[in-house]
Amino acid sequence: MSEPLRIAVIGAGPAGIYAADILKKAVREAGGDVYIDLFEQLPAPYGLVRYGVAPDHPRIKGIISALREVLEAGVVRLFGNVRFGDDITVADLERLYHGVIFATGATKDAPLDIPGVELPGSYGAADFVSWYDGHPDVPREWPLEAKEIAVIGNGNVALDVARMLVKHPEDLLPTEVPDNVVAGLEASPVTDVHVFGRRGPLGVKFTPLELRELGELRDVDMIVHDEDFGVDPDEETAKQNKQILVISRVLDQWRQREVGTASRRLHLHFWSRPDAVLGDERVEALRVERTRPTPEGLEGTGEYREFPVQAVYRAVGYFSSPLPGVPFDERRGVIPNEAGRVMDGIRPLPGMYATGWIKRGPVGLIGHTKSDAKETIEQLLGDSNSWWSPEPFDQDAVPRLLSERGVEWTDIDGWIRLDEHEMALGEPHGRARVKVVPRDKMVQISRDER
Ligand SMILES: Cc1cc2nc3c(=O)[nH]c(=O)nc-3n(C[C@H](O)[C@H](O)[C@H](O)COP(=O)(O)OP(=O)(O)OC[C@H]3O[C@@H](n4cnc5c(N)ncnc54)[C@H](O)[C@@H]3O)c2cc1C
Repeated sequence: MSEPLRIAVIGAGPAGIYAADILKKAVREAGGDVYIDLFEQLPAPYGLVRYGVAPDHPRIKGIISALREVLEAGVVRLFGNVRFGDDITVADLERLYHGVIFATGATKDAPLDIPGVELPGSYGAADFVSWYDGHPDVPREWPLEAKEIAVIGNGNVALDVARMLVKHPEDLLPTEVPDNVVAGLEASPVTDVHVFGRRGPLGVKFTPLELRELGELRDVDMIVHDEDFGVDPDEETAKQNKQILVISRVLDQWRQREVGTASRRLHLHFWSRPDAVLGDERVEALRVERTRPTPEGLEGTGEYREFPVQAVYRAVGYFSSPLPGVPFDERRGVIPNEAGRVMDGIRPLPGMYATGWIKRGPVGLIGHTKSDAKETIEQLLGDSNSWWSPEPFDQDAVPRLLSERGVEWTDIDGWIRLDEHEMALGEPHGRARVKVVPRDKMVQISRDER
């Protein structure tokens, strides 16, 4: 084609940014030209890398440097504070682009259907994560009043939540954790955090690094229970997997450790399926049913145990939200697609693609979104005869449209301004950054309207 390819990407998380980068490189290598506009509902890019990865994981947060290079390279325009569905629609995109890639990830908690889950004191992990990572759209206050807390789930998010709850807040200070979060955690009377998983110790979804980190927390005893080990006849076979072998060694070390000196404790309970959150007015306990392995998987034993806790955090997975005008699989919580092509039943929808967590569900690490994006871009580039036919190119069409609609959009220069502002706030205190949390303040700084 002689005219440059024009593609919109919705969502500036890792999936959207990697897709933009891979698309740019592929088109350039083929001798073509491409314009990519990246629309992000928040005034800051990077999705869950900024608003999901825990603040005490600076190495992972460091992935942002690579993502930032893509945004600063000049080919991709960033339109921040622009929400697809409200500020810009499928009809707009069809007029302006040859196609769109949806990379809107997942922001909500998956439901957990047990009695009492709606009691005050029962929280979704996604909300708590958004609070401690300074997400602009959640309240600044978080009720940390419980001495004993249950965390349901055996994935890395459960470990993040448990670690943030049990860690002494002074140890978070060098990180980018927001000030209101440190103040909230300082007031917490927590002494015991109990993490529950329905499978056995070798059936967990944790990664070894995240698990091992718990054992290094200052003034926190790790408690595991001998009765949970040696239950599964397939344990030795499972250990042929290197990751599981490391996990089993870490847990074995903790079984042998002396405990009793620390002021806080983190308990791991396996073979424990949540059955009900108990309490009259608010959470008073969690009831679990013991489970055991069967050749097909898992079954309840009929033995129930109650743990007195004053708060319950559900970390049983994230769930994506539907987008207006775009098909959505309500059961799986994804945009139905084949290798990234959005499907309407059995037919691909011309011009529409998906990548990242909205494409394949909320599992996997940041690195996986790169291979995702590669697959999606391959499909997109192979579909040139079914792309949309947009109006003639006009560089100013999108800024004009957004301004006409009164959208206070931000751009890459604005993001760099905000980024530098946050780092400057942190510098005198030896901190990586101090996040600006209120959305209007983020927009003001980005648009230089202070
Ligand atoms: C609590 C938590 C901790 C994690 N920790 C790690 C870790 O330590 N290491 C690791 O490798 N992985 C980690 N992950 C996984 C990692 O965050 C994901 O693999 C990755 O972020 C998925 O990328 P994505 O771009 O698909 O989605 P997201 O990161 O969710 O990005 C989607 C973007 O789309 C935007 N968006 C959504 N709807 C709209 C709309 N309507 N209009 C415009 N924009 C929209 C969102 O604001 C967001 O910026 C963690 C995940 C969670 C939940």
